[in-house]
Amino acid sequence: MVRRILVTGGAGFLGSHLVERLLERGDEILCVDNFFTGTRRNVEHLIGHPRFELMRHDVCFPLYVEVDEIYNLACPASPIHYQHDPVQTTKTSVHGAINMLGLAKRLRAKILQASTSEVYGDPVVHPQVEDYWGNVNPIGIRSCYDEGKRCAETLFFDYHRQHRLRIKVVRIFNTYGPRMHPNDGRVVSNFIVQALRGEDITIFGEGLQTRSFCYRDDLIEAMIRMMDTPDDVTGPINVGNPNEFTIRALAELVIEMTGSRSRLIFKPLPQDDPMQRQPDIARAREILRWEPAIPLREGLEKTIAYFDELLKHDAAALA
Ligand code: NAD
Ligand code: UDP
Ligand code: UDP
Repeated sequence: MVRRILVTGGAGFLGSHLVERLLERGDEILCVDNFFTGTRRNVEHLIGHPRFELMRHDVCFPLYVEVDEIYNLACPASPIHYQHDPVQTTKTSVHGAINMLGLAKRLRAKILQASTSEVYGDPVVHPQVEDYWGNVNPIGIRSCYDEGKRCAETLFFDYHRQHRLRIKVVRIFNTYGPRMHPNDGRVVSNFIVQALRGEDITIFGEGLQTRSFCYRDDLIEAMIRMMDTPDDVTGPINVGNPNEFTIRALAELVIEMTGSRSRLIFKPLPQDDPMQRQPDIARAREILRWEPAIPLREGLEKTIAYFDELLKHDAAALA
């Protein structure tokens, strides 16, 4: 039996790769996106595929379709984009979750939520374990994203307890790779684009804050494994790469790998910017039998090649 799978946010960075992987596996895909941060270009090579359908729709509004599984990824993910219209960001997470959970309830479909390490805020427990409740400012400029995602998790667990819905919650840590939006302001895309153009590399603060970067193929594999776990596995489960780097070390690595002559410049650290982040992936190792396989250098090589090509041949993509 072919599985019918809905991927919301399917024209985005992670969504478009997830869709490709599921199509390769033989599933039938309904990709729903409002093209806020995603683009038709990310999936245009799939248009015409007999098992692929693309639908423009905002998940803040009800959706009546027939599917067996739902991956809920719709939500802008980079600080620049989610802070552009913060009210819409919270609505996307909260109303989007309610609508997708309502859909899953009517269909008795399995549903996975793309949650985030941001639910831990600026963490005082390090590395972050799933039992840690986090340290989140409820009224700051990141709150629209952090609290929206926290509320979405609440809704997932209440639909599970109240309506016995089959839910799966993954908390995704910083993930990078080809098809990241070149202007979305995330650190990996910013540094690579700046280095390739010979522009100054913008380090926020002193660059001593840390992140742990996961290559997108590893992440997608974890998401699919999570969806396929037995019904009693709900998560939340951390998915990400536990290798932690300072932002400064990342900048130096990108300069070395691109052979760039860019200089490092220092800009103010944005409000509430977490100082450290590293996933504890013991649960993912045990339950998903998964751990990341692609080291930063190898992932960066592919990502640099992607942006290099984009900068050379597709100026329109950067507009
Ligand atoms: P992205 O911005 O490329 O993808 C998000 C997609 O959702 C875009 O295609 C966008 O157009 C779509 N979207 C936004 N609002 C929508 C709405 N109201 N209705 C329908 N579609 C909407 O970002 P991404 O990195 O691919 O992130 C995908 C998911 O993974 C997000 O939910 C994000 O919060 C989560 N996540 C990503 C990371 C990461 O490092 N990439 C980390 C943690 C969590
Ligand atoms: N919903 C949807 N598609 C469906 C079923 C429900 O988009 O196939 C939406 C519906 O608009 C509702 C929300 O999901 O507002 C939550 O549904 P639920 O059944 O949990 O709540 P109720 O309809 O009772 O408010
Ligand atoms: N950052 C930076 N320069 C940039 C973009 C980001 O120093 O041009 C820093 C940012 O302040 C944060 C880290 O890099 O400490 C990761 O930022 P990103 O927006 O990629 O992800 P998030 O903060 O959501 O983890």
